[in-house]
Amino acid sequence: MDLKQYVTIVEDYPKPGIRFKDITTLMDKGEVYKYATDQIVEFAREKQIDIVVGPEARGFIIGCPVAYALEVGFAPVRKEGKLPRDVIKVDYGLEYGKDVLTIHKDAILPGQRVLITDDLLATGGTIEATIKLVEELGGVVAGMAFLIELSYLDGRKKLDGYDVMTLMQY
Ligand code: AMP
Repeated sequence: MDLKQYVTIVEDYPKPGIRFKDITTLMDKGEVYKYATDQIVEFAREKQIDIVVGPEARGFIIGCPVAYALEVGFAPVRKEGKLPRDVIKVDYGLEYGKDVLTIHKDAILPGQRVLITDDLLATGGTIEATIKLVEELGGVVAGMAFLIELSYLDGRKKLDGYDVMTLMQY
């Protein structure tokens, strides 16, 4: 299936010069969303994944159906102040300024094998921060899966040595 035809490119959103990849027009078609999910499940199937982890909010959209299919749990990574119990945090760089991501301290047990998911790999900053959280808790990043990779931003450079799959490249 040619997935790209279901991604809507929105010019100059959220600011001038950005070509926003809107995946809602992929997700709202049941058979297309299922096809994309199935590709990631196939990638993860032999990796003995114990838990799926994804950053808010689109990491949930990709990760939760994959976790369901693999019959494992899902742990959310969220912005500061959104998770109700003890968390660990990591600062990460954005294009302008900084932000903080958090995960519950007890979300991952040491040695658990983790699949990380998000909708899109751009500079890799978000996913690098997510990896740090998982590894600080003792999790083993067994794979990472994204619907979209913006190859020209070289996010993969930050993911050297990890097993990364992307379904569409721009
Ligand atoms: P980065 O940390 O630079 O890899 O950015 C990744 C996050 O920003 C992803 O979770 C995406 O949801 C979002 N993002 C970055 N660039 C785009 C884009 N061109 N279109 C849609 N989402 C984007």
